[in-house]
Amino acid sequence: MKCAVFSSRPDERRILEQQAQDSPIEWVFHCEPLHLATVALARGCHAICVFVNDQLNASVLDQLHAFGVRIIALRCAGFNQVDISHADRLGLPVVRVPAYSPHAVAEHTFALLLAINRKIHKAYNRVRESNFALEGLLGFDLHGKTLGIIGTGKIGSCVARIAQGFGMNILLYDPFPSKECEALGRYVALDVLLSQSKIVSLHCPLNDSTRHLIRRESLALMQDKSILINTSRGALVDTQAVIQTLKSGKLGALAIDVYEEEADLFFADHSGEVLQDDIFSRLLTFPNVLITGHQAFFTEDALQEIAKVTVANLSSLLAGHPSENAVGKTKLAPMTPPHDGLRTSSST
Ligand code: NAD
Repeated sequence: MKCAVFSSRPDERRILEQQAQDSPIEWVFHCEPLHLATVALARGCHAICVFVNDQLNASVLDQLHAFGVRIIALRCAGFNQVDISHADRLGLPVVRVPAYSPHAVAEHTFALLLAINRKIHKAYNRVRESNFALEGLLGFDLHGKTLGIIGTGKIGSCVARIAQGFGMNILLYDPFPSKECEALGRYVALDVLLSQSKIVSLHCPLNDSTRHLIRRESLALMQDKSILINTSRGALVDTQAVIQTLKSGKLGALAIDVYEEEADLFFADHSGEVLQDDIFSRLLTFPNVLITGHQAFFTEDALQEIAKVTVANLSSLLAGHPSENAVGKTKLAPMTPPHDGLRTSSST
């Protein structure tokens, strides 16, 4: 069974090959992201395998279906990039990797927090230029400070456990509180969390109700000089509103691994180009903003788990079993083969 892998990187290809060696899956790797202009690369494949910034809107799904694609496998947990109701209308099962390494993302959240608070990004450059002055590097102890965690699922609860190790006070907000987190911190209303936390960290999914969860009004509730961390999804934050809050000096610092319009930027080398995104360019000018390019998940352990679960998801559907990792209503794959005469052997 041929599966077209979009947005694939060399490190992932090696691991996917290893994990699939005893399965009927034949990968067709493409470094291109999936969108309307690249969807034809899926011709002749029974399944496709995609990542966070691939675009699976109704038009792309219609094309995939027309080419005979019958399974969509996500190499990630979030599924906001897929029009799930349209996939259901087409009878296409969409399977994901619900938990690969919540530790990877939680640890990166703390890497960002420690770096932005203790100005490690500045210190690194200074020391390389024999500048050992401490001016401008002043941070604060995390011990005893209040961390507000929005979304206390798998990643949020890992963040809470790490924060406990630092001796932090923990405030939590989630419409579905977890027993484990109740023992680590105190669930409060969102406005209480925003107004009482020195650091706010986002760990909820992106959907219609969470888009721009952090906007002008929520930023106004936050403490002066507090730190905002986002390792979840870019559009949870209204970036223009954050820029205004940074310019006014109210927000102390911002550390992000994700960005609203990251699809046109992240996972590619644009170092020889003029940056066209003026909002992102403005973010880069702040000394108190630290950005990584969606790498929180990026550990060897996480890649191994993503590949293992992806192969299991595909194998299960190919064997005619419903997948427990299906996100829509469609749990089974129709067994129609891909259209004849349209097979591709090219790999990019
Ligand atoms: P999860 O499903 O285990 O937990 C999400 C939690 O958010 C749930 O407890 C849910 O009840 C809660 N939630 C839903 N709506 C909410 C709201 N309005 N306010 C507050 N909480 C709300 O998911 P997870 O595995 O912990 O992942 C969280 C998010 O992290 C994912 O949705 C994904 O967007 C992001 N993520 C980022 C990376 C990365 O590399 N940067 C990697 C993996 C996941």
